[in-house]
Amino acid sequence: MTASQTPTTAEELRGAGLRVTAARVALLETVRDGDHLGVEAIASGVRDRIGHVSLQAVYEALHALTAAGLLRRLEPPDGPVRFEGRVGDNHHHVVCRSCGVVADVDCAVGEAPCLTASDDHGFAIDEAEVIYWGLCPACSNAPSS
Ligand SMILES: [Zn+2]
Ligand SMILES: [Zn+2]
Repeated sequence: MTASQTPTTAEELRGAGLRVTAARVALLETVRDGDHLGVEAIASGVRDRIGHVSLQAVYEALHALTAAGLLRRLEPPDGPVRFEGRVGDNHHHVVCRSCGVVADVDCAVGEAPCLTASDDHGFAIDEAEVIYWGLCPACSNAPSS
């Protein structure tokens, strides 16, 4: 037991300076319950919770929550945009080349930037976003000759 209670989703939205709407609450909960969901999956999760919302409203809420730092946007070069609720820990991702499944990889160092550029070109670098590519267990165990 700790003194501070976990804030509700609505309180978190308010704390981030966002207007609280049913769609935003449902969206944040959907993304946090999911595993690197794409926009379609998020929209259907929101509809399961609160009924019909337009795709436009889903995009609007995703944009607002990402800008506020409550969600993180992930753009694998080969696949659709995905969103996750795990933010601020500088973790990385491993993506399956075959089926596109995404998994989290903890940051090796624990803070950004965890990779030192061999040449920083004079930049003050504050982040390194790493995507590991390979085959997931299901795909690498797929029958071969
Ligand atoms: Zn796979
Ligand atoms: Zn992740």
